[in-house]
Amino acid sequence: MMAIFEYAPAPESRDVVDLQPSYGLFIDGEFADGGGPSFKTINPATEEPLAEVATATAEDVDRAVRAARKAFEAWSALPGAERAKYLFRIARIIQERARELAVLESLDNGKPIRESRDVDVPLVAAHFFYYAGWADKLAYAGFGTKALGVAGQVIPWNFPLLMLAWKIAPTLACGNTVVLKPAETTPLTALLFADICRQAGLPAGVVNIVTGAGETGAAVVAHPDVNKVAFTGSTEVGRIIARTVAGTGKKLTLELGGKAANIVFDDAAIDQAVEGIVNGIFFNQGHVCCAGSRLLVQESVQEELLAALKRRLGTLRLGDPLDKNTDVGAINSAEQLAKIRSLSEAGESEGAERWSPACELPERGFWFPPTLFTGVAQSHTIAREEIFGPVLSVLTFRTPAEAVEKANNTPYGLSAGVWTEKGSRILWMADRLRAGVVWANTFNKFDPASPFGGYKESGYGREGGLHGLEAYLDV
Ligand code: NDP
Repeated sequence: MMAIFEYAPAPESRDVVDLQPSYGLFIDGEFADGGGPSFKTINPATEEPLAEVATATAEDVDRAVRAARKAFEAWSALPGAERAKYLFRIARIIQERARELAVLESLDNGKPIRESRDVDVPLVAAHFFYYAGWADKLAYAGFGTKALGVAGQVIPWNFPLLMLAWKIAPTLACGNTVVLKPAETTPLTALLFADICRQAGLPAGVVNIVTGAGETGAAVVAHPDVNKVAFTGSTEVGRIIARTVAGTGKKLTLELGGKAANIVFDDAAIDQAVEGIVNGIFFNQGHVCCAGSRLLVQESVQEELLAALKRRLGTLRLGDPLDKNTDVGAINSAEQLAKIRSLSEAGESEGAERWSPACELPERGFWFPPTLFTGVAQSHTIAREEIFGPVLSVLTFRTPAEAVEKANNTPYGLSAGVWTEKGSRILWMADRLRAGVVWANTFNKFDPASPFGGYKESGYGREGGLHGLEAYLDV
């Protein structure tokens, strides 16, 4: 990309990770073979195979659920303060092994090490610390203290370890046990987490990890002895899961897609807004459900803002995820790259104007340059569908009312951003935006104490904070 000055490469060492040639399922405190054909997980930045991973069949999932059921009795009967000790121990081991987790996450997912090291892994530890604190205080949360039983959880590839933490930390704090399926393309940090559970002396069967593709996830969701299902992923699969669970009495939370509006008013601090826009859509290659993928800019500052944004995009560094200078890493899979390409082509063919900074893409691996579309209409595919990649659609507005109308004109309702110097306008907008999270003069800020979740096709239920306990207790 545009070289302001040359950076010396600063690669993080891989030596801290002890990659095994193959990984089994984690059931009842032991690593075991899976009944299905094993599959390869690859490094999306190089296409190099990292390891063979077992596939759990429906029988394997059944074994895992039975182990979780057996463990539930003793685990749920432990005083909360005792469960807290395990969670605190897990949190501390995550901190101790943070570099190992961050390097492995970047290898398997393609995200920059700066992000896995400075955002994902610290937030993972923070989630365990936070819910460890709740374990002996459930009586004060207002949802009762009775655990549900076995939780079946299915998570995506964009934040493999962080989504695991969002799911597992409250589950264990409330006294449930769990069977979790990580995404097919990013199973490795979940398996390292299994090792951390062993290191922490967590009783066998409290946490079980079953790897595999969508079928394994479907078996977890459909298992009759699962009491609670939690899913994060696409709206399409969320619908399938909602149908499977309907009428079974299982409790369900769904955290699905988004098409968030990031709204910049003419009185906003332009340079800060530019940083927020970049963070909103280019963080994690745009593989973020709450990404600010629709920029709504007030017409009077459009020119100034876009000029500043383009200048800033020219300074983003795309490349080796393990290089500490890297801002934009690899796209997680060939399938996701194909999807981003095809939606971007739809953007062009429907008449929007495409722009990317001069940017050299590595030859091997899956890459997509930071991309802007201007002249986007609300009817365009790229203004409606979740691209889940580093692609920003720019629309304009004239009045606050028009901004609200355009922001809410989406089947999703997960997040939104507002940039203005007026506090009253922030409150006025936040009142009217139909989104689970509204950030003001910032974007993509997460904290374990803050609930997160959507409306409409973005799903239901809340994760994080006091609200996150409700999903794991028999209210
Ligand atoms: P999916 O929703 O298919 O995957 C999420 C998880 O569900 C994965 O672990 C997946 O397994 C599993 N799964 C797939 N099918 C089923 C099923 N029938 N029953 C139970 N579990 C299932 O997302 P994809 O990875 O396929 O991505 C597709 C699109 O979804 C992306 O392009 C993006 O737009 C969107 N997406 C949105 C996310 C969000 O947080 N909003 C997160 C991820 C994707 P496996 O990994 O083997 O497919």
